[in-house]
Formats: sequence, structure tokens, C-alpha cells
Amino acid sequence: MELADSLGRVLAEDIDADIDIPPFPNSSMDGFAVHAVSLKGASAESPVQLTVVGDIPAGIVPNIQVEAGQAARIMTGAQMPVGADAVIPVESTNAVWTPGGSDPLPRKIEVFRSLRAGDYVRPAGEDMAIGTRILSAGRVLYPADIGVLAALGRSLIKVVRRPKVVILSTGDELVEVNEPLTPGKIRNTNSYTLAALVATYGAIPIRIPTARDTLEDVRRRFEEALDQQPDVILSSAGVSVGAFDAVRSVIEELGAITFWRVNLRPGKPLAFGNIRGVPFFGLPGNPVSAMVTFDVFVRPMLLRMGQRPETIHTITASVGEDIPSDGRRSYLRVKLSNQTGRWVATLTGTQSSGALSSMVQADGLLIIPEGHTQVNKGTELTVRLLTDLVSEPH
Ligand code: AMP
Ligand code: MG
Repeated sequence: MELADSLGRVLAEDIDADIDIPPFPNSSMDGFAVHAVSLKGASAESPVQLTVVGDIPAGIVPNIQVEAGQAARIMTGAQMPVGADAVIPVESTNAVWTPGGSDPLPRKIEVFRSLRAGDYVRPAGEDMAIGTRILSAGRVLYPADIGVLAALGRSLIKVVRRPKVVILSTGDELVEVNEPLTPGKIRNTNSYTLAALVATYGAIPIRIPTARDTLEDVRRRFEEALDQQPDVILSSAGVSVGAFDAVRSVIEELGAITFWRVNLRPGKPLAFGNIRGVPFFGLPGNPVSAMVTFDVFVRPMLLRMGQRPETIHTITASVGEDIPSDGRRSYLRVKLSNQTGRWVATLTGTQSSGALSSMVQADGLLIIPEGHTQVNKGTELTVRLLTDLVSEPH
């Protein structure tokens, strides 16, 4: 793909330097290319005088030979002339140097200090030496990676294909975000949160129109989903008891249900299977349940498909209050605070699986393992972080 579009993509090839970067030794300062030996003993009190034999702007190949006792004016980034082994910065000479640089070339300069061979010279290959591995396949591309690829002349690079994920909401009560909210209706939020989650984990979300609660419409929309040739199909709602029939009948007609319902809170009605061989998740309709089941089940799959590292950040926190549980594995929305060096997790008020604003308030999901009916204040449990953790108490 085009280098300029590759930010955040996963590199699919190893990149070795096929040239030295920099390709030629060059000056790291505006100054004069010299022989270090010529300046032996130079100081402010007893400056050494050198004869200026030429001028080397950036971008040319100098055809000057610098001998002992001589100097060539040189710009930052300009190629070192034959013979010279160091650059004396202009500040250490009596030469005039104004920004913009139309100063006449002096015939002689006085230098106020000595230096060693190699000073202020960037040797060829200092940054990247020919033959060395610069980036390895599997790396997620950050701005600096794109910079080194540009330096190596790689305008086209191989990246891992991003999984395509179709997102389908179901439900007669749903209206779109730009439609008026008429009595009995709610806005379709799941398509948006799920599309955002899909994009967050490096996949391509494709939202298709909501299916009405009829067998025909659900079938038509799943066919439409397949037309997109997706790698994964996500639907939301229509999988809870009583509501499951339309989605289930259609999946069984076009593919198969592998499992339905998990021992999870929120998110119990999750369904998984395939539609004509395409992996399918039937996520619960409640907005928080849809997000939590995505995080637990869909995220690892998309990361694996996109060859991305599985990044789940967890911390151990002490529970800030007694919390009843129902024996399912529970993912509860909590705020985290740092109290004398320990993380303390407090519930974000309502844990209703429909209360999406509580996800906004939450720093993470506190995991109460299955089999517990009560967790006492002070118990240490794992919290999956929803946002990057701030290390300061807040
Ligand atoms: P269902 O699984 O169809 O019984 O839906 C469970 C709950 O989730 C109901 O309160 C629905 O109104 C709600 N719901 C379903 N789909 C969405 C959606 N796309 N956006 C917001 N809420 C939804
Ligand atoms: Mg419904």
C-alpha cells in the first residue's frame, strides 16, 4: 500500500536497509570542513588561521580537496569534501554567518578551538547501516516507522489486510441517529459503538441498515451482510429469550449456531456461529452488553485476524464496597482511584446493561469470577482497563 496511508497498519514484510542512511558523510553543523590536525592548540588567545578554499552548500557533490591548513565553508547536511575529517562550527571562528546566508566567502578564517577527527561529521550509515534490519514484519506502524521507510525510498509497502466486519442492528424500535425520535422508539446506538470498536482494533467496519423484527427482513439483511464479503458478521439484539427466534431461524437456515448464551453478566444472550462459513456473533441488544461481549469475545478474534498483538491491560484493585453477585462471571463498570499506592475500584452507580453513560464514566471493568454471590469490601480483583490508565490518583 501507499506509505502515506500506512499509519497504524501492520507491516507484512521485514525491512532491511538497502542503502546507508545517511548515504554520504555530511556536516552536522554550519561551519568549515577542516583537518582536525590543523587546529591543534587553537584557542581564543592563540587562534589558528586557515585559508578558505571553497563553499559547499547542501545537495551537491563537492569537488574540493581540503589540505592541512585549509578550510571549506560547509552547510548542515552538505557532503564532506575529500580530505577533511571534521567540521569546526562557525561559532568557533571569526567568520560572519547570517541566517539566509548570502555572506561573501571569507578568504581566511581564524579558529578559536581545537577538535578531534570526526567531530560534527555524521558518517555514512550512522543512522541505518546497509544490510541491517530496521523494521520486522508484524510491527504496527507509528510515525517514526513511516519516516524510516520514507528515508529508504519505500513508497509502497506490504501490510496485513484488515478484517472486514459487517455490523447489523435488529429491532423495530430503532431509528437512526439523524431521524426524529417518535414515540416508542430509541436511537440505534449499537451500530455506532460497535463500528467504533471494530475500527479501534484495526478492522474495517461496514454498517448496514437495521433489520426489522420479521423473518424476511432479518434474512434479507443477513444476505446483504454476506454481499459485502466480510470476514466477520456482528449483529446486535434479537438474541434474548423470546426475541431470538428470527435471528436464530435465519442463522440456522444460512449457517449454524455453535453456542448460544454464556455465563456472563452483562452479556448472557451472546450467540456465536457462522453464516455461509463467515464467523458470526449475535451480540446482545443492550448497549453495555454489546460492548462488553465485544471486548471479551470479538476483540481477541479481530486482533488475531489482523495479526496484531493482543493487548489487554489489567490491574489488580481492591474493591471499595461490598458487592453482591449472581454467580455468573461479572464485568462491572468501575471508577479507579489511587489510595495510598493501592488502586481502589468503586462502582459507577447503576450497572444497568442499558446505561451506556456508565461506560463513559468507567475506567475499567471489574471482574468478579463465576461462582461468587458476594464480594466483600477490600477483596483484590482484576480490572480490565477501558482507557489508558492514568498513574496519578484522580
Ligand atoms: P433485544 O435483544 O432485542 O431484546 O434487545 C435488548 C435491549 O437492547 C432492548 O431494550 C433494545 O431496545 C435494546 N437495543 C437493541 N438494539 C439496540 C441498538 N442497536 N441500540 C440501542 N439499543 C438497542
Ligand atoms: Mg429486539
